[in-house]
Amino acid sequence: MSEICNRLNRVNDRIRLTAQNAKRAPEHVRLLAVSKTFPADAIRAAWDCGQRCFGENYAGELARKATELADLDIEWHFIGHLQSNKTRLIATFAHWVHSIDRLSVAERLSHQRSPDMPPLQVCLQVNISGETRKSGVSPENISELAHAVATLPHLHLRGLMALPAISEDPTTQRATFALVRSIRDRLIEEGLTLDTLSMGMSGDLEAAVSEGATLVRVGSAIFGSRL
Ligand SMILES: *Cc1c(COP(=O)(O)O)cnc(C)c1O
Repeated sequence: MSEICNRLNRVNDRIRLTAQNAKRAPEHVRLLAVSKTFPADAIRAAWDCGQRCFGENYAGELARKATELADLDIEWHFIGHLQSNKTRLIATFAHWVHSIDRLSVAERLSHQRSPDMPPLQVCLQVNISGETRKSGVSPENISELAHAVATLPHLHLRGLMALPAISEDPTTQRATFALVRSIRDRLIEEGLTLDTLSMGMSGDLEAAVSEGATLVRVGSAIFGSRL
């Protein structure tokens, strides 16, 4: 068995154990393998081990890998910062986008998504730690954006994505993820249908799953450290 397969199995074990401890059904937590910077061969090895969803941060890299791996039934997720001049590549190659943080890029993606394809599945990225340098919409502005995105014809709003400031402290990690969940719950009370909480990475997936993550984005724990 490949090293990548071993690591993938370990990550799936972590998710399953944590979900069970939190009295959640493990199948309600999907694993997104974040393959940015790793070669197509590494993705193939993970695919051979049963992994089907992969996440990329750069539009050009996503397009290249999706083309090279077109023989595999992969679900591609774009999780990086959205640049307006790259939306067409993303609308063409991605199934999901996690990082919507302004209406203008959402409108471009909806406009550029082919009506022959299924709608692009999207999450809004919430800037939960309030860092000015990071992308993401603030909790104060998320409701307005969510209601606007929900009306776009070729997008399907699924939920929220969070990329909190790194913390080694599980209590802090859980408090932050609980905040994201409460924002999601507030949007549901406002009438939106949201089934996705994209949160948790290699170092904090236990805290995220304990607080309701439905999708964890894991890179280094599967593919090793990025160069
Ligand atoms: C790189 C990245 C990840 C994966 O991070 P790891 O710590 O390698 O698991 C998850 N989400 C986003 C948005 C990323 O850019």
